[in-house]
Amino acid sequence: MLIAGNWKMNTDLSDGRTLAENIASGIAEAGSRFDSVEFAVCPPFVHLQAVGTALSDAPVSLGAQDVHREDEGAYTSDVSAPMLTSVGCTYVIVGHSERRQYYDETDGEVNQKARQAREHGLVPIVCVGETLDQRKGGDAEAVVTAQLDGALDGVAVNTADDLVVAYEPVWAIGTGESASPTQAQDMHAVIRTHLRDRYGSEGADDIPLLYGGSMKPHNAADLLSKPDVDGGLIGSASLEAESFLGIAERAATVLG
Ligand code: PEP
Repeated sequence: MLIAGNWKMNTDLSDGRTLAENIASGIAEAGSRFDSVEFAVCPPFVHLQAVGTALSDAPVSLGAQDVHREDEGAYTSDVSAPMLTSVGCTYVIVGHSERRQYYDETDGEVNQKARQAREHGLVPIVCVGETLDQRKGGDAEAVVTAQLDGALDGVAVNTADDLVVAYEPVWAIGTGESASPTQAQDMHAVIRTHLRDRYGSEGADDIPLLYGGSMKPHNAADLLSKPDVDGGLIGSASLEAESFLGIAERAATVLG
């Protein structure tokens, strides 16, 4: 079970370091209770190195929130995959709905980023999810599967460790209104079937499918106990060690 935090554009250097230290000490205090839980945090680019250092003795992987499609070049403000690997990143989020919404990121661009991540040994956390209008219009599955097809075309996935998919209904992100466990499971089952068709059941069954969208300690257990929900991508609740680790506690309980 993977519990990943997306810090978005939050925390200054001091806050980010403190948050990372608190997460590290909370995991250490939990001892073997979290043995079955995998952790990742995705801080802002400028804090990756400091957060990586603060987490160097903790079982927490480092991830970035975006990546450029090219290795290097005249792309002012962008950050490349080799830069991310050089500061210790394992994961990179691609196709987050906020990138799609505010920067008009297309499935084609998400695909370039996912391919670039894989070429450099990063694990893309590919985000997909429908808007409220799309859900109300009965198009949620079609939207999500089209996003998956767009993002994954030609992405080299040799083992289930090479990819993470996050289902993040746009209407649930930052709204406090999570998808119900049934809604999450239903869409995760669609995604799983789609991944089986693409990669074969052997690999696809183990690709982690994260749910994201207002996951909090109070609703995490019900979401995480669904068979195709393999973890969470957590936004606002990842900005406090207590709530982030509270979700991890629920994950550990679900796993028994
Ligand atoms: C996210 O944006 O990835 C997310 C899940 O945010 P929140 O948990 O705040 O809804």
